[in-house]
Amino acid sequence: MFDCIIIGAGPAGLMAAIKSSQNNKVLLIDKNSKPGKKLLLTGGGRCNLTNLKTNNEFLNEVNYNKKYLYSAINIFGPNEIYNYFETRNVPLKIEEDNKVFPESNQSVDVLNVLLNELKNVPQNYNETVLEIKNAKIKEVVTNKNIYQTKNIIIATGGSSFKYTGSTGDNMKFAHMLKQPTIKLFPAETGVKLIEQTYLAGTSILEVTIYFENKKSTGNLMFTHLGLGGSAIMKLSEFIYKSSNKDIKIDLLPNFSKEELLTIINNYNSEKNITSLLNNYFTKKFSLYLVNKININKRIKSLTKTEKEIIINILKELRFEIKEVNELETAYVTGGGIDLKYINSMTMESTINRGIYFIGEALDTHGPIGGYNITLALSTGYLAGLSINKEDL
Ligand SMILES: Cc1cc2nc3c(=O)[nH]c(=O)nc-3n(C[C@H](O)[C@H](O)[C@H](O)COP(=O)(O)OP(=O)(O)OC[C@H]3O[C@@H](n4cnc5c(N)ncnc54)[C@H](O)[C@@H]3O)c2cc1C
Repeated sequence: MFDCIIIGAGPAGLMAAIKSSQNNKVLLIDKNSKPGKKLLLTGGGRCNLTNLKTNNEFLNEVNYNKKYLYSAINIFGPNEIYNYFETRNVPLKIEEDNKVFPESNQSVDVLNVLLNELKNVPQNYNETVLEIKNAKIKEVVTNKNIYQTKNIIIATGGSSFKYTGSTGDNMKFAHMLKQPTIKLFPAETGVKLIEQTYLAGTSILEVTIYFENKKSTGNLMFTHLGLGGSAIMKLSEFIYKSSNKDIKIDLLPNFSKEELLTIINNYNSEKNITSLLNNYFTKKFSLYLVNKININKRIKSLTKTEKEIIINILKELRFEIKEVNELETAYVTGGGIDLKYINSMTMESTINRGIYFIGEALDTHGPIGGYNITLALSTGYLAGLSINKEDL
């Protein structure tokens, strides 16, 4: 008989296991052969583990159910996470937009800190949980065994990049437990365009994309079928949910229209407009722009209207989106366990007492930039703490 079984060894489950095992007999189960498979992928292998803002600033960036996260973030938020790793010999660095990475640029260093804290906790890998039975004594049925436990923490993640183990089992278990859920949807992913741009591989360091009343600044990448990069990823969930599919891209957000006119007027007038654009974009993309507006000539022969058209395309390049990429390729899964039935002070289900849901399994997520690992660690910490308190 265990005090607590934690299902899933991602950042949420690992942190929940660390905290809950302080006073309890705990078992951590994961179907992969090793823990933290998705964690190792994060931040391009560098792991952007948090975003060092004040708790309020941090929560302001969270798109869904931010109010619900106050307790978790106030107990173990960005600052606590920062200190947790720094005091365990992982020096961290802060990059643009307050993103925090290990100084080594190695996500494995983050994983190793968590595993180091779990040295004395039994961990079963290569074991898949198939069923959860919620009776007075709860049962966790796996492909290898049946375990009895007082509490269960479900940390099975979302439903994307399935080869990492996150296969949406939170929804399967919720269904078994009659725990209400919110339909899953892709968040933080790219989009497909109606137009075939033939610009795959072209990237722009900083653009601002406008969609309805939202805007997002970041990098932009053209893919075979559409767009990727942080600027579009941050908007993708809103585009997914709206019937409107029109976006507007400011390709040079650091220049006003007036400044661009001055730049054109001051440029070598003997040169072609593409020569000027090549200072900001790849040759391929400059050519794409001038072909799109059909103005490919020397600066000295540009009319006032033509200059306006050039400036307009630089400040308002428009695309119609065909569709948002599928959930499988999304960095984050939207939807999940309905938070209305989860106690935000403990992460325990209000319907299934003794059963906790944490991390990406929940119907809450943040944008890319260290928000989602933070939410996993902080909800995991809170659930683990609650199990510990229960025992005191
Ligand atoms: C490419 C990529 C890059 C990312 N980069 C960042 C970043 O830099 N910063 C950031 O904050 N976020 C990033 N994210 C998001 C972040 O990785 C996730 O939000 C986070 O890993 C969620 O943690 P979790 O513990 O809830 O779930 P997961 O990390 O998905 O872990 C769930 C675990 O549960 C196990 N499991 C599932 N079902 C079962 C079952 N039935 N039985 C046993 N085990 C099971 C899985 O094998 C898995 O190990 C990125 C995501 C992707 C895909």
